[in-house]
Amino acid sequence: DFYQTPDVSKPRYIRVNTLKLDVDSALNELGKQYMVQKDDLVPDLLKLPPKCDLHDHPLVMNGSIFMQGKASSMVAAALAPKPGWEVLDACAAPGNKTVHLAALMRGKGKVIACELNKERIKRLQDTVRLSGADNIEVLHGDFLSLDPKDPPYSKVRAILLDPSCSGSGTVAERLDHLLPSYAAGQAANIDEAERLNKLASFQKKALAHALSFPQVERVVYSTCSVHQIENEDVVKSILPLAESHGFQLATPFPQWQRRGLPVLEGSEHLLRTDPVEDKEGFFIALFIRKDRTMVHQS
Ligand code: SAM
Repeated sequence: DFYQTPDVSKPRYIRVNTLKLDVDSALNELGKQYMVQKDDLVPDLLKLPPKCDLHDHPLVMNGSIFMQGKASSMVAAALAPKPGWEVLDACAAPGNKTVHLAALMRGKGKVIACELNKERIKRLQDTVRLSGADNIEVLHGDFLSLDPKDPPYSKVRAILLDPSCSGSGTVAERLDHLLPSYAAGQAANIDEAERLNKLASFQKKALAHALSFPQVERVVYSTCSVHQIENEDVVKSILPLAESHGFQLATPFPQWQRRGLPVLEGSEHLLRTDPVEDKEGFFIALFIRKDRTMVHQS
């Protein structure tokens, strides 16, 4: 889902859009042309050999499968929203994780997909249309301005926060839309440290905001950055506030070996993927509030 140069040595991953096609049918269909197997970690994810080019494949064209990397596919799976929940994707475009959420919820409940950038709203709408999901509401606005107590948001049970980041974990950097000069193509002029500070400051505000929604019980914070300042440092700085709201860090994909840098207590809960070994550098933190779960289960 990122702007990156194809790396021929890495396996290709595709995520089956279970709103349109079941995993076994996808395996059968793709198996006619490729050596394809199920991923051992992420449900609905299939692994194909390097060099497979599926861009024009009919199943891609009709939205039955999405070309989505493994690390990127781990994010919505880590949030694990339940069918019927109301879920907020805070920084949604181009929407790969939004439609993954809708598929995990089997089309039941509601996904609110919030996006600030007008141009990227179009891409988000295209992705939603292609997915066939009919329970996604696209919202053009600033996530930071959403009032958590407003009726549309007060029932939100899970938030996926995948904010603008430096993109340092990917081969080519993702476009960043926070900084006007960056969007205008003057990235080279911005001092890298200052840029990272600005990004981290937004990321902290956004994470604090996500944790302030009254009924939220699961929040995932993710980046495709390898920088501690955008990852562990963000979590470390917001953790006291999270704990004051009753949240704790939980462990997404416990069998995954590479965890957070040991710069905070609880870093073993955090998940990192390595840009060399795993081909993409991603970071995932999962916050869970147990008392809300108990209220809802009783
Ligand atoms: N989750 C997306 C996916 O998997 O397809 C990628 C999200 S991208 C890393 C971050 C997005 O956040 C960008 O599209 C950016 O325009 C948007 N964004 C930045 N600041 C925002 C804000 N304050 N409110 C809502 N969206 C914002």
